[in-house]
Amino acid sequence: MEKLKKRSWAEPFKIKVVEPLKMTSRVDRQRALEEAGYNTFLLRSEDVYIDLLTDSGTNAMSDYQWAGMMLGDEAYAGSKNFYHLEATMQKYYGYKYLVPTHQGRGAEHLISRILIKPGDFIPGNMYFTTTRLHQELAGGTFVDVIIDEAHDPTNLHPFKGNVDLQKLESLVTRVGPKKVPYISVAVTVNMAGGQPVSMENLRQVYSFCSNHGIKVILDATRAVENAFFIKIREKGYESKSIAEILKEMCSYSDGCTMSGKKDLLVNIGGFLAVNDYDVFEEARNMVVVYEGLHTYGGLAGRDMEAMARGIEEAVQEDHIKARIGQVEYVGEKLQSIGIPIVLPIGGHAIFLDARRFLPHLKQIEFPAQTLAAELYLESGIRSMERGIVSAGRNKETGDHHYPKLELVRLTFPRRVYTQAHCDVTAEAVEAVYENRSRVKGLKMVYEPKYLRFFQARFEPLS
Ligand SMILES: *Cc1c(COP(=O)(O)O)cnc(C)c1O
Repeated sequence: MEKLKKRSWAEPFKIKVVEPLKMTSRVDRQRALEEAGYNTFLLRSEDVYIDLLTDSGTNAMSDYQWAGMMLGDEAYAGSKNFYHLEATMQKYYGYKYLVPTHQGRGAEHLISRILIKPGDFIPGNMYFTTTRLHQELAGGTFVDVIIDEAHDPTNLHPFKGNVDLQKLESLVTRVGPKKVPYISVAVTVNMAGGQPVSMENLRQVYSFCSNHGIKVILDATRAVENAFFIKIREKGYESKSIAEILKEMCSYSDGCTMSGKKDLLVNIGGFLAVNDYDVFEEARNMVVVYEGLHTYGGLAGRDMEAMARGIEEAVQEDHIKARIGQVEYVGEKLQSIGIPIVLPIGGHAIFLDARRFLPHLKQIEFPAQTLAAELYLESGIRSMERGIVSAGRNKETGDHHYPKLELVRLTFPRRVYTQAHCDVTAEAVEAVYENRSRVKGLKMVYEPKYLRFFQARFEPLS
């Protein structure tokens, strides 16, 4: 008998509750896709087999978190869960003040309204949809200062999320530091493929900005995943704990926005955290108008408790190792069969490179949107477009933004799917790849004004 030599990792949990999945036929899926206007956001979840649309709010909570839900203190003011959340944020993220919000964009709204004056410029390491929109609605102009490598899906730079200090400096020189209230630094960079920022880069950005009176606001939504990449890729951090690395990352910033629906292992929740008392004071006033009183910010007490417990679980080494390990497992499988994906494999998702997958389609034929629709039709697996549809329109010219990257994101919810689901996913992508030359593009037949990728509708080109 042969011996198994390899020692595989496995999920550091066992399954206590199951949710059955519905199997569908190709005919069912064709009908569902037409009803959804070829937009995977508009599919009914019931018609989806493996849902890789997003890792946002799709986490499986632990028994410890569910137990915490029963300890919800639903007082209108001063819930004990708020104080627990505040103390836990202070312990792991290190900021002084906390304002809870219903999710990440609630925090983005507050910080944009407080810090941005019309005519200001807000640099960022690649845009995120809701982040940029809130900056624009507050009268600001987003300026991309990510390193060029981030726009090249084949470049193997280990920290493709890094800020290009030259680009940052030339912006500040051009418009003057007074017109740059803060830089928004995403760790990791979702839109670049879940690519991390190095500690060295965070340190340099903070030092440059401090010297010019510019604040650094982290988008800390995926900061734990970023901390894991620092641990395995950056010299000097191999033997530090994830919690230590996370805290050091935050120390090079003045505050953060957080969507708890990602790293923090909950289904809803977020917060704004800052060190500056005046900013906190204003956020605490404003949150009452848009979210709810400053001790609940649109959340139930039980939601805040689950998020506090999620903060603790998120930094556990075996959790984050398996989380990123699962994504890597799928990515390596796809790579081994020649599927074009964004490299290096990022933290939360595999990004199929639709330009190389469907080279016969023009960008205006929506290659990534098309590929996401085809994958659903083939297998019932739901993914999402991250390309020209997500990029939206230029608010001056009215034309589409034409992003370099035309990607389909396969995003893995935390602690939800098994390795067998991962295998099925890779097999489905392979099947679409084998028939790729037959795939035709789409045309857009309905376009909403804001964040169009959520609700746009398409029809196949004949
Ligand atoms: C999801 C996300 C947001 C927005 O958070 P919501 O909870 O969806 O409002 C902001 N930034 C990043 C990097 C995200 O992934």
